[in-house]
Amino acid sequence: MTLASINPSPLSDLRTFVESQSGQKVLDCYQCGKCSAGCPVDYAMDLGPRQIMRSIQLGLKDEVLEEHDHLALCFLSDLLLALSG
Ligand code: SF4
Repeated sequence: MTLASINPSPLSDLRTFVESQSGQKVLDCYQCGKCSAGCPVDYAMDLGPRQIMRSIQLGLKDEVLEEHDHLALCFLSDLLLALSG
């Protein structure tokens, strides 16, 4: 990611979509890093969960979509945790 590719868009379609699907307010993320610290697949991601949240806040849709394979790992990780519990 280059500085030139950053296009802050606090009202981006991406943020609206994520908020509608999750029921969470993306702008409430204050970048504490707990999600990255506890994520079992963080090591396999170019952008960790905290960075993905920041990218969504900034409207960096392309950067987030480039992570789609890794986000599938995130989904599988949740699914495996649910099945093992
Ligand atoms: S960095 Fe992660 S754990 Fe911390 S506030 Fe943001 S989403 Fe929540």
